[in-house]
Amino acid sequence: MDNVANLIGGDWVASGETFKNVNPSDITDVIGHYSSADAATTEAAIDAASRAFPAWAGTTPQVRADILEKAGLELAARKDELAELLAREEGKTRAQGTGEVTRAAQILKFFAQEALRMGGETHASIRPGVSIEVFREPIGAVGVVTPWNFPISLPAWKIAAALAYGNTVVFKPAQLVPACAWALTDVLHRAGLPPGVLNLVMGRGSTVGPVMGRSAKLAGVTFTGSTATGFGLAEQVISHGGKVQLELGGKNPLVVMEDADLKTAIDIAVDGAFFLTGQRCTASSRLIVHEKIHDAFVDGMIARIAQLRVGHALEDGTQIGPVADEAQLKKNLDYVDIGRDEGGELVAGGSLLDRPTAGHFFAPTLFTETTNDMRLNRDEVFGPIAGVVRVSDFDEALAVANDTEYGLSAGIATQSLAYADAFKRGVRSGMVMVNLATAGVDYHVPFGGMKASSYGPKEQGQHARDFFTQVRTAYTRPIR
Ligand code: NAP
Ligand code: MG
Repeated sequence: MDNVANLIGGDWVASGETFKNVNPSDITDVIGHYSSADAATTEAAIDAASRAFPAWAGTTPQVRADILEKAGLELAARKDELAELLAREEGKTRAQGTGEVTRAAQILKFFAQEALRMGGETHASIRPGVSIEVFREPIGAVGVVTPWNFPISLPAWKIAAALAYGNTVVFKPAQLVPACAWALTDVLHRAGLPPGVLNLVMGRGSTVGPVMGRSAKLAGVTFTGSTATGFGLAEQVISHGGKVQLELGGKNPLVVMEDADLKTAIDIAVDGAFFLTGQRCTASSRLIVHEKIHDAFVDGMIARIAQLRVGHALEDGTQIGPVADEAQLKKNLDYVDIGRDEGGELVAGGSLLDRPTAGHFFAPTLFTETTNDMRLNRDEVFGPIAGVVRVSDFDEALAVANDTEYGLSAGIATQSLAYADAFKRGVRSGMVMVNLATAGVDYHVPFGGMKASSYGPKEQGQHARDFFTQVRTAYTRPIR
């Protein structure tokens, strides 16, 4: 595939400049070259979405439901093929890729039905003879900007919600993962979306992003990615009165109390910290462990880490695939040095792994004897690296968990209802997990964080409509 095109106003449009999509498990494997949208192409996509909006907003919910349902069924039917593509371009294992494609299909089918549940409200007035209706309506053409770590499910949960409620979309995926973005766009396009309802602009974020951010023709932008990029984009959108939804970084704590079931604690710590190569916004990177269970927990973690199989994402038996790209690999290595320099004790991993293919393979890494003020425990690394912080009681554990600028997900391993309840209420994060990994969520309930992890309404489930719709209020006084 030499020049895979963008979708603008219903037409596949190839540009002169392309960028390369490679396999992080084997950088000699080139998946294809993709058209890089420039500023003018991005403007054309925004114009197309803006022109298509009134007619799409005016369709019946059944029309929108049927298209989303059809697209969801196609994704489900092609899950093995698309999982392989996903694993090849992003580096999740085949099984994890299958899980993600299946999730994307479920999301499309869920939002198909949501189109029929947009609803509204009626109220009694405080004035006699007056009735009140609250209408819910789509907001307009919206920008969708996504990161590389969930290349099909994450765009699906933004785009499906946008379309279900009657908005049109300009979709800018991350450059590392254009193939899944293209596949999702193609499936939705062929499912019957009218021209301009969904537009795809692959290419550089620094080129496409500001055009989207500054365009007053977009009623809003929903973004997932890093905190600095997200807030920069938000400033542009807000400056012209647009609506903003940001899902950003995390530094998620997993607290292990003295009464935790040790096997459960280790299972969820390994899953949360290392699976999907630690490249999840909800990954557990701070393991906050009660002193009474600390040594047993650390010994168990070291033994378990030694058994993890890191390798080519498409090889049978691989549990953890490669790091997404060279820049991310370098960041992981830098943080190993930083953790050591700060006085952390490296007890597992910390280095590159040699494998038969030329991929970015990095060993799951654990530091002990860390404190929460170390950069290792403050900065989001976005790799398979975790630091253990020893604490002496619940109050200290909760205080450490909350001592972070982020607030996406938080977990606790405990058998005590009292600890679990106090943690659920006291921890400052959008999602809380009891005896479950901090990463791994359902699609029909709100997703999102607090503090520097999120801005604006939550995503997923019915709460998605808080961003993708607006309400208007009508007062009526019938004259007899
Ligand atoms: P990123 O570098 O911020 O990129 C996110 C998206 O923004 C990409 O499509 C990127 O394009 C684009 N972009 C780059 N510069 C831009 C600009 N000036 N204006 C507008 N858009 C621009 O993040 P990433 O490295 O892809 O993803 C990792 C981050 O995402 C981590 O911080 C992680 O925590 C976060 N994340 C959060 C959630 C959540 O729900 N909270 C979920 C997943 C990931 P290009 O890179 O293609 O140029
Ligand atoms: Mg790639």
